[in-house]
Amino acid sequence: MLKIEKEIYQKILSNKNKENNFDAFFYEIENYVKNLKLNRNLNKILVEEKIEIIFDNKKNSFLRGKIEIENNSKKIFIYIETLKKAAKEGIFSLEELIEIVKAHEYFHYLEYSGKIDLEIVERKKSRWWDKKRAIDMDKLEILCHHYVKKLLDLSISPVILDYKNKEKI
Ligand SMILES: [Zn+2]
Repeated sequence: MLKIEKEIYQKILSNKNKENNFDAFFYEIENYVKNLKLNRNLNKILVEEKIEIIFDNKKNSFLRGKIEIENNSKKIFIYIETLKKAAKEGIFSLEELIEIVKAHEYFHYLEYSGKIDLEIVERKKSRWWDKKRAIDMDKLEILCHHYVKKLLDLSISPVILDYKNKEKI
């Protein structure tokens, strides 16, 4: 994991968590993603899973993409205007950004359909009687970004897209 990725991830996690040593978690997610059996032919998987890709050219969306799952229909929306803007930052090309959105939303599909083990992003139980196995959404997104990086063999985690212009790291 790159130093800058760790710094961004740490920033995301420090918003809500009091602890600020996340090295063990970073090590865990690296191992987790390393051990996943990845089928890199994303577009083929999407066809097999009957996930439809919809390009939406709505302007001024703050989203890059989203997935909608209803009964038997699964749709990934790609906000192409948002991606064109992001491509201007020069980190990823438009083609790469499209694949990043597909991979990101596909991860959420795996999560939603229980096809992926999420134990490492579960919240620690605060009390022994607490039976809830709630997911820490910040940790989940970090896992997702790291999954996308590995699946698409990117040189840097897509998390950089959310942080590049906001503050100097
Ligand atoms: Zn996400």
